[in-house]
Amino acid sequence: MPPQPSFPLHALQTEILEALVTGERFEAIADLLCRRAEQLAPEAVCSIVAISPDGRLAPVAAPSLPQHYSDAITGIPIGPDVGSCGTAAFLGQAVEVHDVSTDPLWTPYRDLITPLGLMACWSSPIKTRDGRVAATFGFYYRTKRGPTELERAIVNTCVHLFSIAIEHDHAQQRNHALAYFDQLTGLPNRRSFDDMMFERIVADDPAFGLLVVDIDNLKIANDTMGHVVGDGLIQEVAGRLADVAPNAACRLGGDEFAVLVDACRNHNELGVVADAIIRAMSEPFDCDGYTIMPQITMGGVVYGIDGNNADLLRQNADFALYHAKEIRRGAYVPFEKNLRTSIALRMSQIRTLDQALNERRVIPFYQPVMSIDGGVIEGFESLARIRLDNGEILSASQVQAALSDPSIAFRLTDQMLKQIAANMRSWLDRGLSIRHIGINLSTADFYRSDLERRLSEAFEAVGVPLKNLILEVTETVFLDGPGPDDKVVGVLQRLRQKGVMVALDDFGTGFASLTHLIRFPVDVIKIDRSFIDRMLLDRPSRLVVELLLDLSRKLEMRVVAEGIETQAQAEWLAELGCQYGQGYFFGRPIDAAATTRFIVAKNGVDARTPPLSRKRPA
Ligand code: C2E
Ligand code: CA
Ligand code: CA
Repeated sequence: MPPQPSFPLHALQTEILEALVTGERFEAIADLLCRRAEQLAPEAVCSIVAISPDGRLAPVAAPSLPQHYSDAITGIPIGPDVGSCGTAAFLGQAVEVHDVSTDPLWTPYRDLITPLGLMACWSSPIKTRDGRVAATFGFYYRTKRGPTELERAIVNTCVHLFSIAIEHDHAQQRNHALAYFDQLTGLPNRRSFDDMMFERIVADDPAFGLLVVDIDNLKIANDTMGHVVGDGLIQEVAGRLADVAPNAACRLGGDEFAVLVDACRNHNELGVVADAIIRAMSEPFDCDGYTIMPQITMGGVVYGIDGNNADLLRQNADFALYHAKEIRRGAYVPFEKNLRTSIALRMSQIRTLDQALNERRVIPFYQPVMSIDGGVIEGFESLARIRLDNGEILSASQVQAALSDPSIAFRLTDQMLKQIAANMRSWLDRGLSIRHIGINLSTADFYRSDLERRLSEAFEAVGVPLKNLILEVTETVFLDGPGPDDKVVGVLQRLRQKGVMVALDDFGTGFASLTHLIRFPVDVIKIDRSFIDRMLLDRPSRLVVELLLDLSRKLEMRVVAEGIETQAQAEWLAELGCQYGQGYFFGRPIDAAATTRFIVAKNGVDARTPPLSRKRPA
C-alpha cells in the first residue's frame, strides 16, 4: 500500500497559502515549494521554470541544482523536443523521460544534466486559469525511472499550489500596473514619475534634465472631433515621446507628460532632446477619419542648475512651460531665473485686475481720435483704467500681462461695455456728437459665440446704435482665435453687417503680412505707435508708414496713426496723406466727465459733423 501523503501535503498547502497571504515574493514561494517537495520526496531534485510570454524558459527556483545549470537553460525557446520542461510547456502536458542519456528530447542538453548525476526528468505543466502554460514543475531523479504514486500526489498538489501563486502574482502585477502605469498610454504615471525622480536625485552624482510636455489644443480636439480623437492624440503623443525617450517618458495626467533626460548636465544637452521631441511631432497622423497634426509645448530644467530637489525642479519646469504656453506655443522654453519674476509679475497683475473687477473699480477712459490737422474729433478710443483706493489711476498697460488671461479679459470687456454704453447714452442725451467709440477686444471675447448678443444687450438696449462702435482687434485675435479658422472673421462679418466697424489694432507689431489685411474684414487700420515713434528717425519705419497709407487708400480702408506725440509727427503724417491721428499730441486718455468737457469745448453741443463713413462693403 502506498504511503499516505495527505497529512504532510495538507501542511504544505497551509504553509504555501500563508506565505501568499503574507505577501511573500513569487520567487521565495517557488523556492519554498521546491524545498518542501524535496523533503516529501527525498529522491527527487525539484525545479520550477517559468515560461516567458514569448515562450522561453525562465528558471524561478531550483534550490538543489547549481546556478550554472539554471543559467544554461535560461532563454531557451520551448518546443516539441526541448528536454522535459521545454517539451511539457510546449505540449501542455506532462513529459516523463526515464533516461536522459538516450531520449532524443534531451539530445542537445544531455551534457548539461548528466554531469550532475541526474538520469531522469519528469516535468508537469502549470497552467493559468485561461489554459496558458505559465511554468513547469520538474522532478529530476538520480536513477533511470519514472515517478512513484506518492510523487505524483506530491506534484499534483505542488502544481495546484503554484498555479494559485501564479494567479496571485498576476493579480498583483495588474494592481501594480494600475497603480504605476497610465491605462490609456501604457506610460509610467505620476506616481512612477515621482519614484523615478527620487531615484535620480539620490544617485551618487545626479545628472539629469526634466522636460514637461503639454499637448496644445487637446480640449479643442475633444470638443470639436470627439473623445476618440482626443484619446488618439494623447496616445500618439505618448508613443512618439516614448520613441524619442524610451523608458523615460511618463504621463502626469490629462494632456501633460514628463520626460527624464539622463546624463544631462546643461541646457544645451537638454535642448538637443527637446528639439528631437519637437521634430518627432512634426508628422500628421490619421485618427477616426481626421488628419491630426500633434502639437506640444515644453518647458525644461536641469538638475543642479535650476534646482536640486524634486519640488523645485518640477515647479521651475512648470514655470518654463507656462511661459512657453504664453509666448511660444508649439516650442520649447528652458527655465531661466527671471521667468519666475515675469510670471510672478503677471500673477500679481491678474490679482490686481481681478480684485478691481470684483469691486467695480475698472472704468473707461477716452482718448480722442482726431482728423490729422487736429480740427475734428473723429471719435474716441475707450481704454480701461483701474481706480485704486488712494485715488491713483492705473493704466491698462500697467496690467497688460493680465489681459491675456481669458476669464479676466472676458469680465473686463463686460464691465467696459456696460459703462461705455452708459456714457454714450448720456452724451447722446446731451446732444453731443460722439460718432465712433473704439472698444478693445481680446481673444477670449470670441471663445463663446455670444459677442453679438453681448454688444446688443449693452448698446441697443440703451438705444445706442451699433454703427457708433469700432471694435479694435489685434492680429493675434484673428490668428489665435478659436477654430475653425474663420470663426472670428465670421463673427466680425456679421457684426459689420449690423453697422459695427472693425479696426486692426497695433498694425505692424506682429507677423501680419499685408495679405492678412486683405483677408481680415477690417475697415480701419491702426498703425502701431512704434512706427510713429521712429518715423522721423529711421527710414524703414517711414517707408512702412508710407506703404501702409498707400495700400490702405487702394483698399479703401481708413488709417489711424497711433501715439502721435509731437506736431512734427502730425505734420509729416498729414503730408503723407494720413487722415486720422491719435496720441498725446491731440489728447491723453481722460475720464468720461473730462471727455464731455472736451467735446463741448471742441464741437459745442450738437455739433453736426458728418461721421466717419465706411466705404468698404461689409
Ligand atoms: P492700445 O489699444 O494700443 O491702446 C493705446 C495705448 O497707447 C493706450 O495705453 C494709450 O494710453 C497709449 N497711448 C495713446 N497715445 C499715446 C502717446 O502719444 N504716447 C504714448 N506713449 N502712449 C500713448 P493703455 O491705455 O495703457 O492701454 C494699453 C493697452 O491695453 C491697449 O493698447 C490695449 O491693447 C489694452 N487695453 C486697454 N483698454 C482695454 C480694454 O478695455 N480691453 C482690452 N481687452 N484691452 C484694453
Ligand atoms: Ca486699441
Ligand atoms: Ca494700438
